[in-house]
Parts: sequence; structure tokens; C-alpha cells
Amino acid sequence: MKTFIFFFGPPASGKGTQIELLMKKASFKIISIGKLLREERKKRSEIANLIKLHLDKGELVPDEIVELIIDKELKKIGANEKIIFDGFPRNQNQLTLLDNRLKKISSKDDKIYAIYVRIDSQEIKRRLGGRRSCECGSTYHIEFNAPKKTGVCDSCEKKLFTRADDNSRVISERIKIFQTEFGPIMSYWKKKNILIEINGEQDIKVVSADIENELRDLKIIK
Ligand code: AMP
Repeated sequence: MKTFIFFFGPPASGKGTQIELLMKKASFKIISIGKLLREERKKRSEIANLIKLHLDKGELVPDEIVELIIDKELKKIGANEKIIFDGFPRNQNQLTLLDNRLKKISSKDDKIYAIYVRIDSQEIKRRLGGRRSCECGSTYHIEFNAPKKTGVCDSCEKKLFTRADDNSRVISERIKIFQTEFGPIMSYWKKKNILIEINGEQDIKVVSADIENELRDLKIIK
């Protein structure tokens, strides 16, 4: 019996952290499209050049390339494996692709669920808008992880700055993209009764406990 879990959430939802925490509880295979694309990008090929073009602009990579990568990964899935998908599907085309592939590779007793780490727009803006960065790579948050001296890096004492994609206009754009991409996918999964909504605005440990409780109830983890 296989288990497929589709993890998703808006920017700053803490989805990545939650996947890492879940890995400590049970052995899941992670299929992260973003990570696979970054690996593929390093190769010297026509596809790598095409991937680079889209990745660098923060745009979605064309569905044909995502299909190639997904198909390669699906072939490697073992009979009793538990798989977490991070960053897939991200549009209607990819959702259709997923449904087609699941019809071929999954059986009736396989478990298929989607975990949605929910935080509202205001909280996204609070989390991303408060982020401050330093040239040396250190990052801070004015509320949750403030530097000792306001606006100055603890490690190298340089002046902190706000990253271009953390400004409020770009943040609003990223939120809009998320809602447009996932709105229809979410409604579809809700109708199929496979959507698990988690309140991502709680403490990291509470969010993690909520996810574990849900998966325990479904007998996916012990
Ligand atoms: P992530 O690691 O999820 O933040 O994704 C990094 C980048 O990879 C995104 O900005 C997109 O350019 C690309 N990407 C990730 N997932 C997908 C997907 N399902 N379809 C197309 N492009 C994707």
C-alpha cells in the first residue's frame, strides 16, 4: 500500500519546516519539484537552459518539463512507499496530469491526502514584511528574531536591509499568485474529501503536533 501526501501552503506558511519535522517521525520520500528543477538546471542541456530562464524569474517552469521530471520520479516509487510531494501540482494542467498518473500507478487501498498549511494574508505580510537581511547571509525578523541592535547585524555589524521580494507590493503579488494557482486545486480536493486543513498561525510545535495527529488518525504514522 502506497501513501501520497501533497503538502501546500502560501509563502511563509512554514510548510518546509513542517515537512522537515515530519521526516523525523517517519520515513517519507520527498518529491520536491523546486529542488529537482534546481538540480536539473545544473546540467548542460537544452532543458537545463530552459529551466534556468524560468527559475531565475521566479516563474513556473513549463508543464512539459514538470511532466518529464514527475514521470521520472514516479517510476522510482516502491510498492509500500510513503511519498510527500512538495510544490506539485501548481496549476490545473498539473492537477490533470497527477490524476492521470495516479489512476495508472495507485491501487484502491492507497492513501491519498493533501495537507494545507493555512495562514491568512495579514499573517503572511507580517512574517515576510518583518524580515531583515544582511549581506553576510544572516536573516532576522523584527518581531520573532530581532538583532540585538535595531537595524544592525549581530554577526558582522553591517546595516540590515529588506530584500526586494519582501516588499509589500511583491508580497501582495505572491499572495495573489498563490490564491489563483491553488484556489481551484483546493476546491477540487475538498470535494474529493482528501483535504486536511491545518492552522499554520500557531506555534511551530503546535502546527507539527496537529499534522501528526491527523496522520496518526489516518494510520499513516504511528
Ligand atoms: P520552490 O522550491 O517550491 O520555492 O520552487 C522554486 C521554483 O521552482 C519556483 O519559483 C518555480 O520557478 C519552480 N517550480 C516549483 N514547482 C513547480 C511546479 N510544480 N511547476 C512549475 N514550476 C515549479
